[in-house]
Amino acid sequence: MSTYTGPRNQPSRRRTRPRPGPRRRFRRQLAEFDDPTGARHGGLPTYPWHMAPEGLATKRQLLALELRPGGQPIAAQVMWIRHGQPAVAYLYDIAKAKPKRIPTLAQLHAIEKALAARRTCPLCGIDAGYTIPTSLGCCLNCATPNTTQEGQAA
Ligand SMILES: [Zn+2]
Repeated sequence: MSTYTGPRNQPSRRRTRPRPGPRRRFRRQLAEFDDPTGARHGGLPTYPWHMAPEGLATKRQLLALELRPGGQPIAAQVMWIRHGQPAVAYLYDIAKAKPKRIPTLAQLHAIEKALAARRTCPLCGIDAGYTIPTSLGCCLNCATPNTTQEGQAA
């Protein structure tokens, strides 16, 4: 086996092959990362890049399908070499994925209302700009003697 890794701009004898095989480096990864039972990877089924079976997707791929993992465990992993280091991407079962939840405008409004309520002092009714401490039950102005809204000196 030759270890030539330089540019392949010369017509080579490979041309006579029926199909050009994968690059040698890729083939080495195939052997290392081709572990569908996960025997060498802590029981997690492992595939080389681009070799994962149908029906599995990364989180990013699920998002592109308007899906999310939905609490399911990692089903498998894809491994490859990136900058000389092993890199991994976790795969999820598309069949077990759940629809991505996008909050509606009404839900966002309700969240904002709830947050505003937590910032509003029940004594003076002013949005303090911070969450009212439950230990005080009112804003800091109301909690501090002699500096209430009414008695505040200039
Ligand atoms: Zn207050």
